[in-house]
Amino acid sequence: MSSCKFFFRTLGCKVNQYETEAMQKLFEAAGYTAAEEISAADIVVVNTCTVTAVSSQKSRQMIRHAAGVNPNAVLVVVGCYAQSEPRVVEKISGVDVIIGTKDRARIVELVGQALANRGEKIFRVGNVDDIRTFEELPHAPHRTRAFLKIEDGCNNFCAYCIIPHVRGRVRSRSLESIRAECLALKAAGYKEIVLTGIHIGAYGRDLKGVTLVDAVKTVLDAANPLRLRLGSIESAEMTDELIALLKTDVRLCNHVHLPLQSGSDEILRAMRRPYTTKNFSELTARLVDAVPEISIGTDLIVGFPGETDENFSETLDFISKQPFSKIHVFPYSARPGTPAASMPNQIPPPLKKSRAADALTISRLKAKIFSKRLIGRTVEIIAETSERGIVDGLTKNYVRVYVPDDGIELGAVVTVRVEKIFRDGVFGIHIA
Ligand code: SF4
Repeated sequence: MSSCKFFFRTLGCKVNQYETEAMQKLFEAAGYTAAEEISAADIVVVNTCTVTAVSSQKSRQMIRHAAGVNPNAVLVVVGCYAQSEPRVVEKISGVDVIIGTKDRARIVELVGQALANRGEKIFRVGNVDDIRTFEELPHAPHRTRAFLKIEDGCNNFCAYCIIPHVRGRVRSRSLESIRAECLALKAAGYKEIVLTGIHIGAYGRDLKGVTLVDAVKTVLDAANPLRLRLGSIESAEMTDELIALLKTDVRLCNHVHLPLQSGSDEILRAMRRPYTTKNFSELTARLVDAVPEISIGTDLIVGFPGETDENFSETLDFISKQPFSKIHVFPYSARPGTPAASMPNQIPPPLKKSRAADALTISRLKAKIFSKRLIGRTVEIIAETSERGIVDGLTKNYVRVYVPDDGIELGAVVTVRVEKIFRDGVFGIHIA
């Protein structure tokens, strides 16, 4: 039983959020308790991200900030940036423990070593290319919507992406392990489960005769959630069977996130993306036809090396014609060790910035058009957070709804009559 207190700071994706919740559970199981604030902790953990140059910079800033506000704590740096630049992290003053993306399950043991040998650096960053099994971590969600990690790694090596280099090859979680966690989520009363992973469309590739559809059916069967939401999925892996499930099973949220990355076939080839704009638009048309009110979100990289004005206007033209409800826009960010980082014709930052602004204008317009469709209608949300007298939550098709807090219980299903566009979503009146 330890009297030590821990505190986590997390950057990055849903998978990182899930892994933070899992590492917190490991500390709690070992008798540690969570500190309310960073300055009160004996152990500070920064779970890092390196998907863009900005997230790497934010990771370094967060590490230095932690070392500054609590120099006496054991400072642990874990995750994708630690995996990508371990020697840089090692040199940051105050860092005691460095763990990559391989041995999160050993974090309590490694911190124990650091506590016992203050001043000694614990370095645990291995080669991710030889990881073959999914790292099982205990998990207890800390939010209304439960993230459920089912897969790690990626085999695609898109030309701009650092993730396969820091997360390794595809590893799928066994259906038995998924079922076990679903039974726990059901017992805990979670109404919405979000399937997440680094590349969920590749789920099962390393397991014989198993696919993402099997994982989806396992969750629906074991947890029988009110809602099951799919995390980001590659368009090339949105199978007929998955679309049929989206169409027929009302528990599956009518919301998908399909990274497009570019609306120019020439740039998609340079990115080594496994589809064309024709494939992509045929898929979105099928989804809109098959699944009522479906919301389709996407990611877009602007300013990829070699992207001409013509390529970019093709992209703007393409995205403006797609039934998107949200477009996340990323100015291209060169990642160390990726093919695109050494490609000729790198786009100057000011041009990347103006292209991002143009794409964001379309994104905002599309989000508004999609949200506006709800005005005057009644929708259901799961109350997620309450702030300054306003509760918010998501519709099944991923519109954020804000409603006055008249004593709404967080986690409850709330019926709202939508009145107007508000912030990044809509505002409404609580009717049941
Ligand atoms: S599919 Fe491509 S973009 Fe997605 S994680 Fe894999 S390499 Fe990165």
